[in-house]
Amino acid sequence: MSASDISVFDMFSIGIGPSSSHTVGPMLAARQAVHALAERTQLTATAAVKVTFYGSLAATGIGHGTPGAVIAGLEGLDPRTCDPAAVRGRWEALKGEPLINLAGAHQVVMSIADVEFRAGERKPLHTNAVEMIFLDAGGQVLHRDLAYSVGGGFVMREGDLAQRTHRGVWRAFNSADDLLAACTTERVDIAELALRNEMYCADMPSDEALRHSHLRLDAIAAAMRACVDAGTQTTGVLPGPLQVPRRAAGIATALAADTSGRDRSTEWLHAFAIAVNEENASGNRIVTAPTNGAAGIVPAVLSYCERFLHATRETIRTYLLTAGIIGTIIKRNASISGAELGCQGEVGSACAMAAAGLCAVLGGSPAQVENAAEIAIEHHLGLTCDPVGGLVQIPCIERNAVASVTAVSAARLALHGTGRHHVSLDVVIETMRQTGNDMSDRYKETATGGLAVNVVEC
Ligand code: SF4
Repeated sequence: MSASDISVFDMFSIGIGPSSSHTVGPMLAARQAVHALAERTQLTATAAVKVTFYGSLAATGIGHGTPGAVIAGLEGLDPRTCDPAAVRGRWEALKGEPLINLAGAHQVVMSIADVEFRAGERKPLHTNAVEMIFLDAGGQVLHRDLAYSVGGGFVMREGDLAQRTHRGVWRAFNSADDLLAACTTERVDIAELALRNEMYCADMPSDEALRHSHLRLDAIAAAMRACVDAGTQTTGVLPGPLQVPRRAAGIATALAADTSGRDRSTEWLHAFAIAVNEENASGNRIVTAPTNGAAGIVPAVLSYCERFLHATRETIRTYLLTAGIIGTIIKRNASISGAELGCQGEVGSACAMAAAGLCAVLGGSPAQVENAAEIAIEHHLGLTCDPVGGLVQIPCIERNAVASVTAVSAARLALHGTGRHHVSLDVVIETMRQTGNDMSDRYKETATGGLAVNVVEC
């Protein structure tokens, strides 16, 4: 499988908070498992369901809303279309009424005792594993499903890698170097190449494929804007024991009232990113970009483009296509998962995507865009994942705000160069992969190291 086999649109899926790997992925996995059960006509024969979480899903699943997401998935809800409120309280509700409605069609008794957490056990393919076992009235196993949530809302099962085939694209690439070479050969910029690849795969007449791709990009941008708007208009306290106050609305109100004429763009970036991450922490509608924990950075820089650079709809499409294609290269050659590589994989990747997109919006050449993405990752290398209380709040929310500013700096720094530089994007991605492999599991979304153990939960 090549980087070009991953769609740009897969880097921006619309879902719910607070985590793509711990909420969206497990919910999709449960929904798929029940779908498979129904296809085998075993839905109504099911009398019991046992769920076991392994590794990082077990370690921080409660804080990330994982059990409730899986129950909602078993009940047939889809993170892309569901009412987020229907998922948020599902785990607590099970304590009151031990019943679930499989696929929304078949009621089964299920209590919290049917859900197990085995944090110390790791399944072979990935640390984020969930096993779902469906039993009949006699206790016989009807269907057993072991699924892996590998980050960014992607779900994998044993055998998926072997089965994965190349999608036909206009120009295939597997690395940033390949991508730059293809842009040079075809005399197109990165966004144009990304768009032509998506159109090629759409399997429709070219005018229809173009309209279809534009509609999808515009829908992603609209969802990001809606999230920024919701976050900058909502006050209160975030869910969970930390009682973290929401700050985006207060910052945005203060900035909007400022008449000093001073450059406030950095503070607006903070407000935009914090707004999205507060919406994420509240379990609301979010665009995974490329994960939920790091979902504030791409929308913050998008909002920056619109507010300070007067970006048009067409420019925003360029921004998203460029950001997305950089994400596919990182996902293919390293990972975008905090559970695999620590926070460098999440926030570092999102920062690189936003930096690349902004550089393209500002007229950067493909080489400068590649340089912007490289700078952004380089200065996140080694960043650990240590969410306090296992919640995607501290340090995640502020980290997105700071990384949004870094993305703008990286883009502007790259634009001052020619695109020639010592450390290539491919080398920095490989370095991130190796650094993540060397990192202790305590710093990979397990909340057992770093700030997670040094900050007292009140
Ligand atoms: S610390 Fe980083 S990787 Fe970990 S949950 Fe927060 S944003 Fe995600």
